[in-house]
Amino acid sequence: MSFTALQSLDVAGKRVLLRCDLNVPIKEGVIRDDGRIRASLPTIKYLIDNGASVVITAHLGRPKGERNPEMTLAPVAHRLGDLLGSPVLFSSEIVGAEVDAKKASLQPGQILLLENIRYEAAETSKDEAERAALAAQLAVGMDLFVSDGFGAVHRKHASVYDIAKILPSAAGFLVAAEIDVLKKLTENPQRPYGVVLGGAKVSDKIGVIKNLLGKVNVLAIGGGMLFTFLAAEGHEIGKSLVEVEMLDDVKKLMKEAKELGVELLLPTDIVVAPAFAADSTPTLVSAYSIPADQIGLDIGPDSAAAFGAAIEKCHTVFWNGPMGVFEFPNFAHGTKVVAESLTKVQGISVVGGGDSAAAVRALGFSDNQFGYISTGGGASLEYLEGKPLPGIEVLNHA
Ligand code: AMP
Repeated sequence: MSFTALQSLDVAGKRVLLRCDLNVPIKEGVIRDDGRIRASLPTIKYLIDNGASVVITAHLGRPKGERNPEMTLAPVAHRLGDLLGSPVLFSSEIVGAEVDAKKASLQPGQILLLENIRYEAAETSKDEAERAALAAQLAVGMDLFVSDGFGAVHRKHASVYDIAKILPSAAGFLVAAEIDVLKKLTENPQRPYGVVLGGAKVSDKIGVIKNLLGKVNVLAIGGGMLFTFLAAEGHEIGKSLVEVEMLDDVKKLMKEAKELGVELLLPTDIVVAPAFAADSTPTLVSAYSIPADQIGLDIGPDSAAAFGAAIEKCHTVFWNGPMGVFEFPNFAHGTKVVAESLTKVQGISVVGGGDSAAAVRALGFSDNQFGYISTGGGASLEYLEGKPLPGIEVLNHA
């Protein structure tokens, strides 16, 4: 997958439209984790240091085409300004005459952040003409497009995909770094290669498992999805999460793993509780006989230790999805142990985006303890499934 590098564009004196992923968790107007804003800084700094004026477009949450004050990017403009040490202008309008005038008055080095692009229904429309019309409005007064919102590159959205058909385009540094890491996971990975998957559903990760099964040495399964594996082996799983419609697929995968010589690690002990609640009483049970009235909420300590030991022996590790309901402290142990073991990997350790990235930060780990923390869960998973990323492919035209 090749694309135009940012350094190959002459940005001096140009007006650059920059797509960032600034989709940060905000509660009551306060940004809870600014990882994605920080990840956008290298490209923004490069552009302003090289004499461009920058208009940033980004999304926050899923406002579904309507203005929703809970999803405004205004607090992000402030934080971005603080991190850059210079003010960032904010426009509550996304397209139209008023914002076009603001774009036209920008001086080199100035930054204007546009309000949440998903307030515009056309951004995510399935109708290509609608998206193209919005992209054309975004392009007004702009010379170049730089795509750096990695978390959205798997989407055919107006500000990600259609815009790159209008303006000369390049990938920003974050997108380039993310793709570089993903290549290391798919093209000649250093061995042993381990993949740890967790999170809620098998159906979200089955494509990744299928695509990576032939490449990995170790596959460890935790989280809510492990119970579909245990059920497929015929074990009693009590009231734990299960996707009955996935049982046949999972059985096939387990057979294939065996044939390929992949070490498939499933937990041997499970932390269960009578209810899905932070204060529900935890009990440790065997993974092969979960009581009928209990829900599995974390992998047990023996399993966590076994997963950890296997991970530490690997030279390439990809992890996506918490091992248990880490949001409840009684059920966070497995996720903590797996995170800890990733910090000890001699080689490359990659934490997939979304919940796994939030989990490691919430559990007190810092980003630099890991080889790489991806900003885009969905986008990395789709790449690892072997699917094309439209927002990257479209950058190939130059
Ligand atoms: P995902 O977005 O698929 O990575 O799923 C993340 C979510 O999976 C987190 O919010 C976890 O609380 C949840 N999760 C992890 N383990 C379990 C479990 N055993 N039962 C139910 N949900 C779980």
